[in-house]
Amino acid sequence: MDLPGRHGAEINASLELSPLPSGTGWDGSIAYLDRDGVLNLGKSDYINTISELTVIEGAGSAVGELRRAGFRICVVTNQSPIGRGLWDELQLSIIHEELKMRLLAEDGDAELDLILYSPFVPWSNSYIRKPQPGMLEIGRQIISSSENGSTISKLITAGEYANDRPAEGSRSCIVGDRPADISAGLAHGVRIFHVDDREGLPSVTGRILDATDGGDKF
Ligand SMILES: [Mg+2]
Repeated sequence: MDLPGRHGAEINASLELSPLPSGTGWDGSIAYLDRDGVLNLGKSDYINTISELTVIEGAGSAVGELRRAGFRICVVTNQSPIGRGLWDELQLSIIHEELKMRLLAEDGDAELDLILYSPFVPWSNSYIRKPQPGMLEIGRQIISSSENGSTISKLITAGEYANDRPAEGSRSCIVGDRPADISAGLAHGVRIFHVDDREGLPSVTGRILDATDGGDKF
């Protein structure tokens, strides 16, 4: 089975989550965030180095706000340059460290709880690459295990789910700028917030926090 890469750890290593800023318990809500066009500006030929990384103004405050409202944050990003052999996971981890640092510099609560990336190329049709929902499913299992204090024995994807599919939080959502993000969210069954790739996450934070907002319809 294909598995995503995970920033800073092996995919099935236990995840040490820092407490939610509110100090309250977690209600199962996860904000799955696409990266380019949501947290930082995208580029047609990828973000290849930290010099090409421009964080969208207000993205740090937006992440902080979501965490203060009890959301866990799971970045789900397609990174085919790895599968294409353009650069490696070390290069990607440098970019992700920089992204984390800049978000935290804007807002001390703006932690990215989990960053998952798909190294697979588009023609692989991998279940772990958006528009498929595999990264969201794996992200949910890793965060749930951490919150429940259980170890991750085996990560599974939809094909293997019986009746024990971890329940998704009612406020959970995906935020993305592309059809692939929307499809992944639809398949996973979460609220969908489509954003303009220059405006990103800050443009929908208020809507995400409004539990009566069912998200964009497709
Ligand atoms: Mg994007």
